[in-house]
Amino acid sequence: MNVPLLDLKAQHDPLRKDLLAAMERVLDQNNFILGREVGELETQVAAYSGTRFAVGVSSGTDALLAALMALDIKPGDDVITTPLSFFATVGAIVRLGARPVFVDIDPVSYNLDPNRLEAAVTPRTRAIIPVHLYGQCADMAPILQVAEAHGLAVVEDAAQAIGAEYGDGRRAGSMGTAGCFSFFPSKNLGGLGDGGMVVTNDEALAERLRVLRVQGGKPKYYHRVLGGNFRLDTLQAAVLGVKLPYLDRWTALRQRHADLYESLFRSLEVESKFGVRLPQAVYKQNGVRHYHIYNQFVIGVPRRERLRDHLKSNGIGTEIYYPVPLHLQECLLSLGYKEGDYPQAERACRDLVALPIYPELNEDQQHFVAQTVCEGLGL
Ligand SMILES: *Cc1c(COP(=O)(O)O)cnc(C)c1O
Repeated sequence: MNVPLLDLKAQHDPLRKDLLAAMERVLDQNNFILGREVGELETQVAAYSGTRFAVGVSSGTDALLAALMALDIKPGDDVITTPLSFFATVGAIVRLGARPVFVDIDPVSYNLDPNRLEAAVTPRTRAIIPVHLYGQCADMAPILQVAEAHGLAVVEDAAQAIGAEYGDGRRAGSMGTAGCFSFFPSKNLGGLGDGGMVVTNDEALAERLRVLRVQGGKPKYYHRVLGGNFRLDTLQAAVLGVKLPYLDRWTALRQRHADLYESLFRSLEVESKFGVRLPQAVYKQNGVRHYHIYNQFVIGVPRRERLRDHLKSNGIGTEIYYPVPLHLQECLLSLGYKEGDYPQAERACRDLVALPIYPELNEDQQHFVAQTVCEGLGL
């Protein structure tokens, strides 16, 4: 049996006619740059996230970069974030000449540990970027408290977490100063290419983002600020407009798959027999539906490479998110961080592996994955 990590063809085939019609509409309208569909998608994503404003941008990476630019992050500033994330999180900080200061993760949620946050604040700290990793919100209440106490901006990296809810029902992206989404094809809401969005309740910040994404020109060709080309394509917005109405259904399927994996792995006793760590939906006990949207279903395992080889030879796709913690990335070595600085994140990079959890996965495939994982652990 073949079980890829992700099957976008299975997602797009049933939507093929609608996707082609949306693309044809853009072709006919002949309005490829900031056309009608961009504004429509912004309105829809703002409503979906529970924010007043949304600004479509070229990628999740540029969402982070533009948000930090709009907050005037610059050389001499410190920005706090987690060492366990996709590179873009730290890249945005460093590209603006600011210094990333890391706070180790909580080993259960894999998100920034708020208990260690206060100690990382310096007089130079300007902002915090919590990442809602794998589709589960970071513990935002204590993070926002520290931010408020020190007058810091909070930019949520919600690239993996669109629609995820925090304990009180607020959605990813809506809790901080700004929230950043990615529409990279493998995210829960993915385009047919790159795209991203920044959401915020701050009208002035939204306006700055709108200017920054067109090279900082306002009026056109008059540049009071330095921006970039950070625009979301009309074509991608049209495609995303077709897909957004399905997002809740897809999320519910991912959650159902997570529940089935959990019960299969529990009955196989992988925790006690092999020391496996299953993902914990840490806010689940409150009974709200959208707590963890499972962009990834990630387990902690001993002898990871051996397990991956076994799964691969059985046709099962896996991935490592991420093999190297951000503080040990080669291009950041001049910052002076070293192995041992963030032991929880380093451990996660050594032993976490992502299993297939895409919506179109079926039960037989899941049984096969669980069986094969168990087999591979016993080798
Ligand atoms: C995907 C991702 C990004 C970057 O998004 P792109 O659209 O690929 O630029 C940033 N942060 C995290 C946590 C991500 O998963």
